[in-house]
Amino acid sequence: MPLVNAKEMLTKAKEGHYAVGQFNINNLEWTKAILLTAQELGSPVILGVSEGAGKYMCGYKTVVGMVNGMLEELNITVPVALHLDHGSYEGAKACIEAGFSSIMFDGSHYPIDENVAKTKELVAICNEKGLSIEAEVGSIGGEEDGVVGMGECADPKECKMIADLGVTMLAAGIGNIHGKYPENWPGLSFETLDAVQQLTGKMPLVLHGGTGIPADMIKKAISLGVSKINVNTECQLAFAAATREYIEAGKDQQGKGFDPRKLLAPGFEAIKATVKEKMELFGSVGKA
Ligand SMILES: [Zn+2]
Repeated sequence: MPLVNAKEMLTKAKEGHYAVGQFNINNLEWTKAILLTAQELGSPVILGVSEGAGKYMCGYKTVVGMVNGMLEELNITVPVALHLDHGSYEGAKACIEAGFSSIMFDGSHYPIDENVAKTKELVAICNEKGLSIEAEVGSIGGEEDGVVGMGECADPKECKMIADLGVTMLAAGIGNIHGKYPENWPGLSFETLDAVQQLTGKMPLVLHGGTGIPADMIKKAISLGVSKINVNTECQLAFAAATREYIEAGKDQQGKGFDPRKLLAPGFEAIKATVKEKMELFGSVGKA
């Protein structure tokens, strides 16, 4: 099945009280692991690409070519969206050109009026081309591609203002952070999430920084309208740990253990296991 935008899968998720995972990709192994797991579990899935990862993979056209090739060669029949993560205004336009099916425009660092103006323009382009679009209000903490946010809570009224522009999904800061959570993290602000949902109604809400949020908080967030959860760091940690174990056991020095197809296999399996665990937690298994 060719790429789809994220609108239908997220509308269904919101109505069905589960969430679709966005898993960020970095290379072929990542992409293949995520697509195969989604197919095996009958789950819709969103492949996230940050601008940094897009650059690393030799540009958005390379990414689109790889993903489209895999959808066909692996006979993927579950809905898959290819989504720009935390896009700049220019990056969003480049991904629309390259053939992504969904974009995020992160204008959270602009004053709200400028965020509104730029989001509005991109909404019009996405509507015309049939893409879904995610906007962000209230900077999400942690570091992502060199941008450091403070983990603030979004103003529900500003969320409503952006939601009314016709975006498909909305990321609101609710005390969530990218990367690993610090020991003294106070947890998600369900008060903010509830207030945002009260004002934005049916709009699917997005939870960034899904790594390390306890399962009960994830479930509560879903019950309060979160329909898309972004996972990135957790796959990276799982891949690194499995690769370390392989090398430390000296397996790369046994036989043809140095062959990249063998060397990267444990990390590949670790990503699959992480994605499976998340899809089960988010409730998206069998919802394709
Ligand atoms: Zn994010």
